[in-house]
Amino acid sequence: MRGAVIHAPFDVRVEDRPDPVVVEPTDAILRVTAACICGSDLWPYRGINEVSEPRPIGHEYCGIVVEVGSEVTTVQPGDFVVGGFFASDNTCPNCRAGFHNACDHIESYDGCQAEFLRVPLADGTLVATPEQPAADLIPSLLTLSDVMATGWHAATMANVQPGMTVAVVGDGAVGLCGVLAAKQKGAARIIAMSRHPQRQALAREFGATDIIEERDEAGVEAVKRLTDGIGADAVLECVGTGPSMLQAIGSCRAGGMVGFVGVPHGVELPIRQMFTRNVGVRGGMAPVRAYLPQLMDLVLAGDIQPGKVFDHLLPLEQAAEGYAAMDERRAIKVLLTP
Ligand SMILES: [Zn+2]
Repeated sequence: MRGAVIHAPFDVRVEDRPDPVVVEPTDAILRVTAACICGSDLWPYRGINEVSEPRPIGHEYCGIVVEVGSEVTTVQPGDFVVGGFFASDNTCPNCRAGFHNACDHIESYDGCQAEFLRVPLADGTLVATPEQPAADLIPSLLTLSDVMATGWHAATMANVQPGMTVAVVGDGAVGLCGVLAAKQKGAARIIAMSRHPQRQALAREFGATDIIEERDEAGVEAVKRLTDGIGADAVLECVGTGPSMLQAIGSCRAGGMVGFVGVPHGVELPIRQMFTRNVGVRGGMAPVRAYLPQLMDLVLAGDIQPGKVFDHLLPLEQAAEGYAAMDERRAIKVLLTP
């Protein structure tokens, strides 16, 4: 089969790889319908995370089951399925508590930007649609593998409630999905922080009521100006840098909560400011499997269309161009079709 392999920073190649096979009786093999490039794939791409040897890349996927191991009971060949960016058993104490990202048997994948994929722990990982989805639903279903579930997690961790004012730091695909999640959870006012016209437009389409272009302290002041000096009731931190976290905490009202999902790189919490203002910070890696059934229902019912974050659709063979487009911020998010 063909699959994307990262060899070194700025060097992603699509090459021949071995076809995956059932290894454990709990495995499923998928023919990948669509995969995509994640903002977190850019960390190794940019050399910020070390690439010591060539390795298959990609962790977001949806596809058709082609084979299952002898112990798999919930999906069967022919099913269209989505799974989260990690495999989980869905039965251990952490999974039962809704935190599949900390599953006792968590496993990662051997590169999802590929024609075929081995999914371990298929019963605990995959969710099938009731029937084959229409082609125009595929991008939105694909987002449930990571980006939409991660935006949803940010809103959940920030405890977004109906009627709240919510600020979203980060205008990448996760931040935009965070806007969509806040809207779906009933936020009355959604302040998107972005200086990119195309992303501002999508944020508004997803439910943003206000756009702030300023950053850092000026961004905090702009949120306060919009909220009678109080700050937002809930803030979604969807970047993962020190300045973005400070901007999120500073934008939050006293007693409010910041939900953070950006993979932290160089973040230190201002504990004194959190203490004096009672601002909470909660978040982490999204437990995708916990949210998958609910989000799949919303997509299939046409209530949300998170697939609009894909502004570049490329064949898998052009994955290298997809990485370059994401790196240079020419693309919000790239969908790859094997
Ligand atoms: Zn588990």
